Amino acid sequence: MKSNRQVLGEHPSIFSQVLSEVRDCEIQSDRLRFRRNLERLGEIFAFEISKQLAFEVTNVTTPLGVAACHRLREQPVLATILRAGLPLHQGLLNYFDHADNAFISAYRKHEGDDDSFEVEIEYLSSPKLDDRVVILCDPMLATGSSMVLAYKALLKLGTPREIHVVSVIASEQGVQFVENELPPGTRLWLGAVDAELTSRAYIMPGLGDAGDLAYGAKE
Ligand code: URA
Repeated sequence: MKSNRQVLGEHPSIFSQVLSEVRDCEIQSDRLRFRRNLERLGEIFAFEISKQLAFEVTNVTTPLGVAACHRLREQPVLATILRAGLPLHQGLLNYFDHADNAFISAYRKHEGDDDSFEVEIEYLSSPKLDDRVVILCDPMLATGSSMVLAYKALLKLGTPREIHVVSVIASEQGVQFVENELPPGTRLWLGAVDAELTSRAYIMPGLGDAGDLAYGAKE
């Protein structure tokens, strides 16, 4: 399928400024700032996505009268992949503050001495998803397998009406995989699309390991 993809970091803006900070080796070594910057990017993604959601006019009583205001017609479900997705998820949730939430664990299981791995899904917590708007985020879209497996795992909870995929940095290969595997009409919200993947499936130039930068190295 050909999804519609929006690359927010393509044009100079405060988004591209924050994106430059999450990539920067010196700035990203401050874990608090790294997490907060991912959260800020999530907030800007949320604002941009909101422009494509359905709103309705509601009369709101102010101290001086009645104002016709736009309010979201329905709440989305925010879904993220543990653990690296948490700060980006929090940023989306700061703006979609009444959203429902889903969490999926996906990890790269290496067997043998080479660089190959299988992505394993072990944990899923989600509301029912039939006819819902789902915003699925993961800061790094490398091969795209975690995103696609997470989406397939979520289908156990029902079929969403609308899907938005959010990633701070993607590889061209990962974007194409997701575009082929997710339903037509899926919208991709990306910070940047980098050209290369290393043999260990890290995005180049990317930003490094988002989970480790946010939460520390793991075994
Ligand atoms: N996950 C990361 O954290 N970084 C990458 O480059 C790829 C996957």
